[in-house]
Amino acid sequence: MEKNQFSLPVDELPTKWFNIIPHLPEPLPPPKEPENGPSRMDFLGKTMVHECLKQEMSTDPWIPIPEEIRELYIQAGRPRPLYRAKRLEKYLKLKKVRLYYKREDLSPTGSHKVNTALAQAYYAAKEGKTTLVTETGAGQWGSALSYAASIMGLKCVVFWVRAVYDWKNERRTLMKLLGAEVHASPSKETSIGRTLLAQNANHQGSLGIAVSEGLEYAEKHSDSVYCLGSVLNHVLLHQSIIGLETIKQFEIADDSPDLIVGCLGGGSNFGGIALPFAGEVLQKKRECKFLAAQSQAAPNLVKGEYRYDFGDVAEHTPLLKMYTLGHKTDMVPIKADGLRYHAAAPLISALRHHNIVKAVAYPADEKAIFEAAKIFLQTEGWLIAPESSYAVRAGIDEALKAEKAGQEKVICMNISGHGFLDLVAYKEKLEF
Ligand SMILES: *Cc1c(COP(=O)(O)O)cnc(C)c1O
Repeated sequence: MEKNQFSLPVDELPTKWFNIIPHLPEPLPPPKEPENGPSRMDFLGKTMVHECLKQEMSTDPWIPIPEEIRELYIQAGRPRPLYRAKRLEKYLKLKKVRLYYKREDLSPTGSHKVNTALAQAYYAAKEGKTTLVTETGAGQWGSALSYAASIMGLKCVVFWVRAVYDWKNERRTLMKLLGAEVHASPSKETSIGRTLLAQNANHQGSLGIAVSEGLEYAEKHSDSVYCLGSVLNHVLLHQSIIGLETIKQFEIADDSPDLIVGCLGGGSNFGGIALPFAGEVLQKKRECKFLAAQSQAAPNLVKGEYRYDFGDVAEHTPLLKMYTLGHKTDMVPIKADGLRYHAAAPLISALRHHNIVKAVAYPADEKAIFEAAKIFLQTEGWLIAPESSYAVRAGIDEALKAEKAGQEKVICMNISGHGFLDLVAYKEKLEF
C-alpha cells in the first residue's frame, strides 16, 4: 500500500522551536521608536508577556519548548499529520508532480493560531498574570486565545470589531463557551470605546480601534497582558513547530519538497511551515523554494514597499521594517478576512527582500479561491478555511505549471485552518 498519511509519534514532537534570526543573510533590522509620542517599547514592556518580548530579540538558533507547553501541544492534537494529496493529484492528472499538505486544520478551534496562543498563555500564567486580552478581526485569533486561556485556567477578554461580531454568531458562541468575555468594539469597557460610542451609538468599529481598546484595558489592569496572534518574531518562533514536524514527516515519507506554499496575511502560518526549511536552505543543507499566496485586497508582499511602518492602525507598536501597504490603508472586504493585513512579518519581509520567498496575489472576487477549495473538498474530503484555500489555489497552479513544463516537482501546502465556521461564505461564493 502506498501511504497517503505521514504521522509523527507523540514522543517525536520537536523539543525546540527554531529561530531563523541568526541564519539571515543580514542582521534583522531592529524595531525603531517613532519620532513622536511616548516610547512604544516601554509601552509594550508594560502590556505584553515578558518571556515573549525576550524571545522577540533572541539570536539563539534553537529555543527549548518547556515540557508543559509540549504537553499542551499534545493535548491540542500535535503532532499533526502530513498528507499526500493522491486524489487531488489524480483529479489534476499529475504524473510528474507530487502534492502534500500539512494539517493545521486539525486544531481545537480550527486554526494554527493555537500554537502561539498556548505558549503565550503558559508564559503569562508563569509570570503571575490572570487575564489575557486581545483584539480579533475574523475571529480565529480570539477563539484560539479563548481556548488557551480556558485550558490554562485564565480569564480572556476579547475586543471584536463590531461589524464582524454582529454576524459571526458561531465563532462568538465558541468563544463564550470557552468562557471568554467578548465585547463588540467599540465597547463601553474603555475610554476610547465610550468616546466613539458617544459620537455614534452604532459604530461598526475597526481592527485599529479594537487594538486600542485591548491595549488600554491591558494597561489599566495590572494582572492582564496583551497577546498578539501574528507578525511578531516570537509568534513565528512558536509556529515553527509546524515546519519542524513537517521536516521529520518528509523523512518518514522518504521525499523532499521543492516548493512550500502557504497563505499569508501577517505571516504566522506561512512562517511556521517555511522558516525551518528556509533555515536549512540558508545553511546550504537543502534546496527548496517558498511561495506566499495572498489576496489582491492586501498584497503586502507583492505590492508593498520595504520600509519602517507601524504594526497597527492605532500606532501603538514600534516601527518595524516590513513590506507594507501603509498602516492606514483601506482594504476591500474578502471572505478570507484573516489575510487582510497591511504588512508582512519582519522575518518574512527580510526573506522576501533577499529573494528567498516569492509571493502571488489572487483577485479579491475570490472565485478562483473558492473553486480550489471545492475541488479540495471533493477530492481530498476536507473542508478548509477560506484563507487556507489560497495556499491550495497556488499549490494547484504551480503543480499544473510544472506538469505542463514536464518538470518533476514536490509541492507542500500548509492548510492553516478548517472551514466549518465559514459555511456562510462558501454558500455565498459558490451560489448554492
Ligand atoms: C489568521 C489566519 C491566517 C492568516 O494569518 P497569518 O498570520 O498570515 O497566518 C490564515 N489562515 C487562518 C486559518 C487563520 O486563522
